[in-house]
Amino acid sequence: MQLYGWGKFPKVNTTLLYPHTIEQVLDLLSKNASAQMIARGLGRSYGDSAIAENTLDCCDLDHFLDFDEANGILTCQAGVSIATLLSTFAPKGWWLPVVPGTKHVTIGGAIASDVHGKNHHIDGCFSHHVISFKLISATGQIITCSRKSHEELFYASCGGMGLTGIILQAKLQLMPIKSSYITHTLIKTKDLEETIAIIDAHSGSRYCVAWLDCMSHGKHFGRSLVSLGEHASTGGLDVHKKAHFSMPKFTPGVFLNQYTVKLFNFLYYNQARHQCQKSIVHYDGFFFPLDKICHANNIYGNKGLIQYQFVLPQSNCQTGLAAILKKIVASKQASFLSVLKSFGKSNDNYLSFPLQGYSLALDFKINKKLFPLLEQLDKLVLTYGGRLYLSKDARMSEQLFKQSYPNWRQFQDIRQKYHADKVFNSFQSARLGL
Ligand SMILES: Cc1cc2nc3c(=O)[nH]c(=O)nc-3n(C[C@H](O)[C@H](O)[C@H](O)COP(=O)(O)OP(=O)(O)OC[C@H]3O[C@@H](n4cnc5c(N)ncnc54)[C@H](O)[C@@H]3O)c2cc1C
Repeated sequence: MQLYGWGKFPKVNTTLLYPHTIEQVLDLLSKNASAQMIARGLGRSYGDSAIAENTLDCCDLDHFLDFDEANGILTCQAGVSIATLLSTFAPKGWWLPVVPGTKHVTIGGAIASDVHGKNHHIDGCFSHHVISFKLISATGQIITCSRKSHEELFYASCGGMGLTGIILQAKLQLMPIKSSYITHTLIKTKDLEETIAIIDAHSGSRYCVAWLDCMSHGKHFGRSLVSLGEHASTGGLDVHKKAHFSMPKFTPGVFLNQYTVKLFNFLYYNQARHQCQKSIVHYDGFFFPLDKICHANNIYGNKGLIQYQFVLPQSNCQTGLAAILKKIVASKQASFLSVLKSFGKSNDNYLSFPLQGYSLALDFKINKKLFPLLEQLDKLVLTYGGRLYLSKDARMSEQLFKQSYPNWRQFQDIRQKYHADKVFNSFQSARLGL
């Protein structure tokens, strides 16, 4: 069958396998010993990282196994989704310390991408809150990995894009909350300089993210709405509701063009009447706004989209961001989704994405002019010492990957040590020369 990620590009042929139990995973591994295999969660990575010749859908490994209520330590299978986890544990007053911009990802996918949230500057990546996990290796061994046991496999698997083995279950540290609500502060900035200044000035705020207007130039270049958030202490512990609206499968991409995006950006930016406004919002709207529409990716049409997410280190941040953003604004190709985040220190994982500095993520509708533009952006990202996020990647070259992820060799050595390179390979890893 043909399979793709959230970006609908590339579309690749694969055999999709659905194990329900650990025994079935082991059985599939031994029966397909000569084929390339990769684990897959809910397919929310954008490109080809969760697709191989044989793709192992792990979503049915979705049981909660243990909960230590006194300490907030949860053990669950890797196919449990963040949505299920939150709807089960938020009412009990427990929260996942790091959540990405959609709740429809599995715990296995969150570990393998070492996802970040709006609080990387305070709480680091997802792996920071993972105590240990069990992984099936290429030889069918079940290995418990933590910072103290098989630590090199732990550091390689967190952010390792499924290339070290199949994560079966994980032990996670949850954090206590008193409410499902977030006290939200929205600050309107006039340009890029002010956007960065406001984000820097609020580095103590737990959650911080900016929506950037990528169509504005001149004196409005880099204007944004900066969102700050803290967990509220009142409001109750109610959970998210199901999305009621679904984007039709065959939405023509033509509706999304420079004029509609410009209009959307103008209206969105000016929804904030005041320079600074405060409100109390439910966690669902604050953390997962895109989840309000099912299949929101259909808006880009059948050709799909590329989400281009890069990070630049602190030292080169402001100049680098301005240079890259100028190219994007001039291209008139960016969509309404442009998200700027500040990152704290990088961690010890070999392939985790964050570096201390700034990260910008933008959606681009796929068209003929896009790929040459992205190649120019790649050069700028490299010039300013940055890199692209593997979970959003669908087209990075081997050269760019190896130049910007300096620990790739150590990562590959660990894969070889555990014979993972013989079995666990995705279309992405083949493209990146791993
Ligand atoms: C709307 C939207 C917003 C997003 N926002 C953010 C964000 O704010 N921050 C962020 O960091 N990411 C974000 N992402 C990306 C997303 O969080 C990651 O791609 C995540 O890994 C997807 O999880 P998944 O379960 O869908 O995994 P998949 O997409 O199915 O797989 C992703 C990777 O994980 C591996 N994997 C999956 N399950 C296992 C397993 N059991 N064992 C071993 N490897 C496994 C796969 O091989 C693959 O390499 C966003 C994605 C979307 C669509």
